[in-house]
Amino acid sequence: MRESAYIINIKLEHVKECWPVKESADEIRELVLSTGCSIKGEDICRLKKVNPHCFIGEGKVQEIALEAKGSDVVIFSHDLSAAQQQNIEDVAGIKTIDRTQLILDVFARHARSSEGKLQVELAQLNYLLPRLKGKGIMLSRLGGGIGTRGPGEKKLEIDRRKIRRRIEKLKEELESVKSRRLSLRKKRKQNEIPLVVLIGYTNAGKTTLLNALTDSTQASSESMFTTLDPVSRIYTLPSRQKIIFADTVGFLNDLPYHLIDSFRATLEEINEADLILHVLDISHHLTEKRKEAVYSVLNDLGVHDKKIITVFNKIDKAEHIDRDILSFRYPDSVFISALKSTGISGLVEKIKEALSFYESWLNLFVPDSKISILEMLGEENIIERKPGAGGVYIKARVPLKIRENFCQKLKS
Ligand code: GDP
Ligand code: MG
Repeated sequence: MRESAYIINIKLEHVKECWPVKESADEIRELVLSTGCSIKGEDICRLKKVNPHCFIGEGKVQEIALEAKGSDVVIFSHDLSAAQQQNIEDVAGIKTIDRTQLILDVFARHARSSEGKLQVELAQLNYLLPRLKGKGIMLSRLGGGIGTRGPGEKKLEIDRRKIRRRIEKLKEELESVKSRRLSLRKKRKQNEIPLVVLIGYTNAGKTTLLNALTDSTQASSESMFTTLDPVSRIYTLPSRQKIIFADTVGFLNDLPYHLIDSFRATLEEINEADLILHVLDISHHLTEKRKEAVYSVLNDLGVHDKKIITVFNKIDKAEHIDRDILSFRYPDSVFISALKSTGISGLVEKIKEALSFYESWLNLFVPDSKISILEMLGEENIIERKPGAGGVYIKARVPLKIRENFCQKLKS
């Protein structure tokens, strides 16, 4: 059965937050919907100072309890301490969850790779452990539904001793998954396949773009975080250069710092990238702010000096935008509509350019007896072709891997 949620948007008057309350409210609403909950109502709570007992005033909690009557869960847009959470539940008599727990629930629903699932479960159990003190984990909260689901709809363990054991086990498993991933990376390096990572705000259109690029059928949807885990796809450029595209988790406003840590491994792939495609929804009124948020997370992850192509997406929805100014400000940018497949070939050209160090010149003579192997180079890549005695002189620009294979065949 669909749970119904009542949302409390917190605005701390003494904290200068960079996101307007309306923007944060939009985001929380979308997060809640993407957990499968329906929204019964919402309220904004402006606070001059935090009440240590219930975060908001006790009177306000009672008010909320009335307004939220009939809802299954009250969701705070802000993090709460274990005690505050418990106290609110006691006063309101309704299951209460905070921002971190909400995000973890969304992550849990959408984790797909084994590493992502382990990371999510670990973060969830670390979150729950200190909340098991006292009255045996607010049994109401663990009664089911939002905040209690592990990855893959598995129910979370609630026995403290078992949780501790499970946490140890998860850490071990993560180590072994990591080493497997490292060996995969090595393989990729050996094969000299460049890695292009798509990053950007959630809902910017990363998955849609990946589909447009690789013409495949991975699901994309309005619901956030359908791509928590890096999902990789292979694509072959017209030059026959193979590329691995990896989709990543979407960024969001003020991702709690402790969650960035938990998901560092998921985002680590960014550090491995030969090229980053930063996808931005140009039709969104806060495009610029979102761009800054992404760059600040990149900074947190220690990503510097990487080649980034800025992909302004959804131009079909943003005819009013002055492209000249943006192109001037972002020389490495393209304007596309992933949905309508507009501008994709220009993007592919830019990607090819950016990865040109994976290519090299080939200047040689191919005897008639070997003429059939010319096919390996690809017509597109052959720049010049001059007939000579008993063969042909070739000038071509080809991917390193193809060059290597070609030269071997030529010698054999
Ligand atoms: P992601 O979270 O970055 O992976 O975003 P998605 O690829 O899931 O896209 C989010 C929503 O934006 C979906 O409803 C897409 O259909 C829509 N979308 C993506 N690209 C475009 C575009 O170029 N134009 C329009 N109008 N909508 C788009
Ligand atoms: Mg996606």
